[in-house]
Amino acid sequence: MKLIIHGGFFSESSTNLETKKAKQDALAEIVTLGHQYLKNHTALETVVYTVALLEDNELFNAGIGSQIQSDGKVRLSAALMDGKTEKFSGVINVEDVRHPVELSLKLMDYDDRVLSGAGAQNFARKNGFDFFNPITAQRQQEYQAKLNQQNNKGTVGCVALDKDGNIAAATSTGGKGFEIPCRVSDSATVAGNYANQFAGISCTGVGEDIVSGALAAKIVTRVTDGFSLKDAADKSFKELKAFDGFAGVVGITAGGEIYHCDSHPYMVWASFDVNLQVFS
Ligand code: ASP
Repeated sequence: MKLIIHGGFFSESSTNLETKKAKQDALAEIVTLGHQYLKNHTALETVVYTVALLEDNELFNAGIGSQIQSDGKVRLSAALMDGKTEKFSGVINVEDVRHPVELSLKLMDYDDRVLSGAGAQNFARKNGFDFFNPITAQRQQEYQAKLNQQNNKGTVGCVALDKDGNIAAATSTGGKGFEIPCRVSDSATVAGNYANQFAGISCTGVGEDIVSGALAAKIVTRVTDGFSLKDAADKSFKELKAFDGFAGVVGITAGGEIYHCDSHPYMVWASFDVNLQVFS
């Protein structure tokens, strides 16, 4: 049983130590709760539970506290992948929901498993997801001051390996901040979130770079073909250098290898293996 989570990149970590510490504390608490939950739940149930906790925390750029797009609206994206069934589901640019990751779980029961925009919102309302405005006063202030061009990373993600050996991955984001309305994030694609029976990966960073590098799917495929997770991730990150890609990943393999890797420092993450570990 293993669990690893991330809270995206923390670009201001060298200057704002208080926020950095708050993020580390939040990650430590959430990974501990997630690990506890994993004892009696599947990997799929656990990544949804854990990412929903991250979405509820205003420190991160997912769910409440998400960054605002250039037209003043928050649009959320999230995805879920069950390594056991190899089913992927997700929502892209959905507005006014509290837990996009739970919406992704709901979509697992359908043939049409990735919905965007108004279609995703209609689906949410029909399935009992109430109106929820994720804009916080702080994000509104940042938006008005156009400050978060400097502070534009903080997606969340989780990969779990359960006691039956199954893996799942979930990722949730408010996007880059100040993007063209309806720009598509990597988080609800197989580049940003991918799992099979061999490994699971959740990404953060610049979505366009992550998609160009096909990052999550590529790393998982390499593990499937016999690479260790470390070698698969390191090789894939070397390939990102060709276009100066900015990304970070967390992952777990069926064999229990747990790893994180980033192209630039300051990604915040935490894992619960035998013991709690929190890093940035
Ligand atoms: N990957 C996300 C996106 O490009 C942003 C992030 O990870 O912070 O939408």
